[in-house]
Amino acid sequence: MTRVLATCFVVLLGLAARAAAPIPVMVLDGESGGPYHDWLHVTTVLKKMLDETGLFAVTVVSAPAAGADFSGFAPEFAKYRVVVLNYDAPDERWPEALKRSFEQYVSSGGGVVSVHAADNAFPGWIAFNEMVGVGGWRNRAEQAGPYWFERDGKVVSDSTPGRAGSHGRRVPFQVTVREPNHPITKGLPRIWMHQGDELYARLRGPGKNMTVLATAFSDPSNAGSGRDEPQLMVLSYGRGRIFHTTWGHDITALSSVDFVVTFQRGTEWAATGQVTQKLPTTFPSADSVSYRADIAAMDPDFKYGLDNLDLPVPARR
Ligand SMILES: [Zn+2]
Repeated sequence: MTRVLATCFVVLLGLAARAAAPIPVMVLDGESGGPYHDWLHVTTVLKKMLDETGLFAVTVVSAPAAGADFSGFAPEFAKYRVVVLNYDAPDERWPEALKRSFEQYVSSGGGVVSVHAADNAFPGWIAFNEMVGVGGWRNRAEQAGPYWFERDGKVVSDSTPGRAGSHGRRVPFQVTVREPNHPITKGLPRIWMHQGDELYARLRGPGKNMTVLATAFSDPSNAGSGRDEPQLMVLSYGRGRIFHTTWGHDITALSSVDFVVTFQRGTEWAATGQVTQKLPTTFPSADSVSYRADIAAMDPDFKYGLDNLDLPVPARR
């Protein structure tokens, strides 16, 4: 009897140790489409969000800059449970072997989180577009796949020719949950306000194995599509899980409590298929935004005020 109890105790200790082991996460950065996407500071903020959950062991991996030698860049993807993409580069940037290595990692069960303009990357890399489901810019048009949006409670597509990717001025907008029973959205309010951010619209892509968790209405009076546009999505690619968030243009946008929560939960889900995190009491409501002042203050321009949402939008992104 004593021996049985002792064995049970050892097994329980083993389980506890396993539960406490941090989840290895790679945050991949190193390039963006332009200076409007400050990947260096964004990575610092993303890492802080993951660190504060106590669930993850985060390693930042920076790809070589445009024009630099990629021959020695071969991240060991398999050492991680999830790769967070804060990275946006054109098709020709990655050697074929690197692309195959990433595909192998995901198809054999590796997790991916795509943040904001990461879905602008690699318009011609078929597997990458199947992972993120939809993307915009970098000359994506009808060859990328149809537009995807929500209508009458269903995800639908539209193959009309046209450019992929648009957004209006960065103003707060309302988010609607479409899949309340997914681990990432379970327990969240049905509707809430997101802090000023780019509301991505008119994204196109294969949309395979994609579930839209939340949408936002893209207002025609703010250069929008007039459609309920996918904002948070989950996908599968082989045995791999992908969480795709369109949010996070800048640190003000990242400071929105709903970004923090869905990013932390989405990363855990992509790694394990489960979410163990509790909701903060500061989650935004249907009519008011809620942001983290400590995160907003990590913006190098915070000294000029919280935001510059009303400045004219650059021609792209
Ligand atoms: Zn942006």
